[in-house]
Amino acid sequence: MTKKRVIALLITLLLVFAIIPGLISLADALKKVKAYQFVVDGEVWFTIADTDRDALENMLSEYQKSYLKNVDQNARIKKISFVQAVELVNVEVKPEELDSLDTARERIYAIEEEALEIEIKSGDNFWNLARAHKMSVADLQILNPDVNPDKIYPGDILLLRPLNPVLDVMIQFENMIIEPVPFKVETRKDNTLYTSQKYIIREGVEGEKEVLYDITLLNGFQNSLVVMNENVIKEPVNALVRVGTKTTVSRGGRVNYGVVQGKRISSHYGWRIHPITGRRKFHDGLDIAANTGTPVYVYTDGKIIQAGWNGGYGLSILVDHGNGLRTRYAHLSKIYVKVGQRVKTGERIGAVGSTGNSTGPHLHFEVIKNGQTKNPLNYI
Ligand SMILES: [Zn+2]
Repeated sequence: MTKKRVIALLITLLLVFAIIPGLISLADALKKVKAYQFVVDGEVWFTIADTDRDALENMLSEYQKSYLKNVDQNARIKKISFVQAVELVNVEVKPEELDSLDTARERIYAIEEEALEIEIKSGDNFWNLARAHKMSVADLQILNPDVNPDKIYPGDILLLRPLNPVLDVMIQFENMIIEPVPFKVETRKDNTLYTSQKYIIREGVEGEKEVLYDITLLNGFQNSLVVMNENVIKEPVNALVRVGTKTTVSRGGRVNYGVVQGKRISSHYGWRIHPITGRRKFHDGLDIAANTGTPVYVYTDGKIIQAGWNGGYGLSILVDHGNGLRTRYAHLSKIYVKVGQRVKTGERIGAVGSTGNSTGPHLHFEVIKNGQTKNPLNYI
C-alpha cells in the first residue's frame, strides 16, 4: 500500500469508530441541557441556561437595589427580599425551551400598575387633595417625602400612587437621625405689664437627641416606621419670658399661644432630617393646629404690609412691627385687614384655615427679625 492509501484508511477508521459516534452522542446530549427555572409563588416565570445564572442573580440584585434610591446613604440595610416566594429550581430542558436574559428582564421588571402623579393647581393643598383621592394626608406625605407643604406652588408634581410592580420588594433598614429636643418656655409673672406684653429674658435653645428608627419600605416607600431608641445628647435650654398679668384682651381657650387658641403645636421651627431619605428640610415657622375659623390675633402693634394670597402660604398676612421685626400668619381662611392698615396688639386680623399648601387647618406663624426667621417659641 502507498502512504496515501494508509492515511485514507486511517481517516476512514477514525470517522467510523471515533468522530461519528461522538457526534451522535453529542446530538443526544443536546436534547437536554442544565437550566434553572425562575419560580414565583409556584408559577414558572422563565427558564434560563445554567450558564446565565450569575447574570440572572446580578439582574435580581440590581432590580432590588433600584428601590433603595431614596434611602439615606448612612442607613444600615438589614434585609432586602421579595414579598413573593421566589425560587430558582434546577432542571434539565431542551435547548429550545430556554428563555433569553432579555425575556427574564422583562418579567422581573413587569409593572402591574403605573405610578399616578398630578400637577398642583392654584388653590390645591394636601388636605383637599388627600380627601379628593380617598387617601390620608399622612399617606400623601409618605409618597412625597421631599415636599414641604408650605413651599409648593402650582405646576409642582405630587405623587398620588406609587408604581406597583408585579415582583414586590421589601427593604428593612435602621437609621440613626439627630433630632431637636424642643425647649419649654418658663414664664415670670409681672403685674406691671399687660397680658399682651411679653419680654424675653433668655432665648430658648433646642437640644439634640439621637433617634434610632427601624424602617421597612415596600417598593421604595414607607411601610412601617418604628422608633427603637432615643438618646438625648444635648439638653435644651428653656426660654425665660416675663409676661404681664394685667388684662386687656380676653382670649380664653385651653392653650393660649398668644396669636391663636391652638390645640397643639403640630410642627416646630427649624431643621428636620427625614428618617428615610436623610435629607434636611427647614421649617421657618411654628405650626399650631386649630379649628378652621379660630380667630388669629396680631402679635404686637404694627402695620400690615401684605394681606392676600401668597403662593404656598395661601391667604396670609405679613405685619411690620418696626425695629426690624415682622410676623407672618399663613394658611388663613379669612383676612380682616388691608395693606397699609395699622393694628394694635391682640387685634383680630384673620381666621385659621387650610389655604395654600397646608396639611390641615393650622396657623403657620413666622417671626422674622432683620430679614431672618427666628424660632417663634421665643416670641409667643
Ligand atoms: Zn408651617
